[in-house]
Amino acid sequence: MDNLSDVFGNAIGFIMLFVLFFLSYMCFKAMIINIIDKFKPASKLMRCESCGRQISTSAYVCPHCGQHYGSSSAFNSILVCFVIGSFLLLGGLYCLSLFLEEYGYDIFILKMFN
Ligand SMILES: [Zn+2]
Repeated sequence: MDNLSDVFGNAIGFIMLFVLFFLSYMCFKAMIINIIDKFKPASKLMRCESCGRQISTSAYVCPHCGQHYGSSSAFNSILVCFVIGSFLLLGGLYCLSLFLEEYGYDIFILKMFN
């Protein structure tokens, strides 16, 4: 019965590990997409809702009248994605280290947390 509960506990743990690493991967992927969106050269123009002049679709502030677009959410989401992704990655690494510790492996990740 001990073996059974170990297998069950490990299965839950591995699923949690997988979810943590997967979510972390998604956050970093979203961050990279945001960074690319933020820094790619402006290729399209749109009409400013406030003053009607042509401005870049990637502009957060109209250079003519100061109308705000998107309230610079790209930077916030890059930062948020990075912070959440880092926490998830560290959480995943910590869980992984607990697993490996249980199996008697002595690896560098453990030393980071001790
Ligand atoms: Zn404008």
